[in-house]
Amino acid sequence: MKIFEEVKDAKTIGISGHIRPDGDCVGSVMGLYLYLKKVCPEAQVQAMIEKPADIFSCIRGVEEISSDFKPVAEVFDVYIALDAEKSRLGEAEKFFDSAKKKINIDHHISNASGCGDVNYVVPTASSTSELIYDVIEDKSRIDEDIAKALYIGIIHDTGVFQYSNTSPKTLKTAAELISYGFDFPEIIDKTFYEKTYIQNQILGRALLESILFMDGRCIVSMIDKKTMAFYNAVPHDLDGIVSQLRSTKGVECAIFMYQTGNMEYKVSLRSNGVVNVSEVAAFFGGGGHVKAAGVTMQGTFYDIVNNLSAQIEKQLKKTEGN
Ligand code: AMP
Ligand code: MN
Ligand code: MN
Repeated sequence: MKIFEEVKDAKTIGISGHIRPDGDCVGSVMGLYLYLKKVCPEAQVQAMIEKPADIFSCIRGVEEISSDFKPVAEVFDVYIALDAEKSRLGEAEKFFDSAKKKINIDHHISNASGCGDVNYVVPTASSTSELIYDVIEDKSRIDEDIAKALYIGIIHDTGVFQYSNTSPKTLKTAAELISYGFDFPEIIDKTFYEKTYIQNQILGRALLESILFMDGRCIVSMIDKKTMAFYNAVPHDLDGIVSQLRSTKGVECAIFMYQTGNMEYKVSLRSNGVVNVSEVAAFFGGGGHVKAAGVTMQGTFYDIVNNLSAQIEKQLKKTEGN
């Protein structure tokens, strides 16, 4: 895909990513937004996602995001869905649906066929931000701000080049991006590793209350609404808890959930690859990648753990049978 080629005749271009935007979502939306504003100066380009976490305020133009979801056009000429398939666009799904041309760029294996008229979905890619770098035909128009946004997306989805989705191509892309000269050690520290005191306290609590099961092959922990309120925490404050659980020795699958409503939980799943958590999540209507997936589930904490366990066990049996 060549992105300018796809949008060059459009007068209105909308860009969105998934609900509860993570670093890759914000980075890819902002990288593409800044690039299209540059190469399509005549067009109205609008980025619409939920308000990004404060750590992303270092990305230029982040305050221009329309988090109120008020569109600049009734019907967009082009609408671009990034890092998600359309059902995860939240309030932006209707703008995508009604657009004259729909483009989908994503790397989720659960969205392998894409949901646009034009799709660029590469499940082996580290991140959507890496794919945005691919589709930018005129690399000479990339500047420090665009490079920084895409770099942030890549480091967040690869755990700073740690996860197995990091490929030689990911590193080559990152190498080219850092040549634009932004302060990458500071970005990694401030957007990825740095935690507030509250975030560390909740992490500690989640680890303290975690439970090992299936002979130590699985681990689960949960934060309920009362605890969230006690710490005055927002969902973003819980980022990283599930991967910390996953690093427990012997654990093949980690489950972390936080309560979003009465009998409703947002579930995060991580695995070392033995369990395909994308399939586990997809069974309950969610999705993601083989080693990282998510889903929202209804029921009590115990019901949800039981239901997930059955699917995880099935997966473990499948791999052991081979
Ligand atoms: P999370 O645990 O929410 O950070 O999600 C892990 C991975 O799964 C990320 O790549 C998410 O974008 C993806 N993911 C989370 N929830 C869903 C869902 N309901 N449908 C599809 N993908 C999801
Ligand atoms: Mn994402
Ligand atoms: Mn992503």
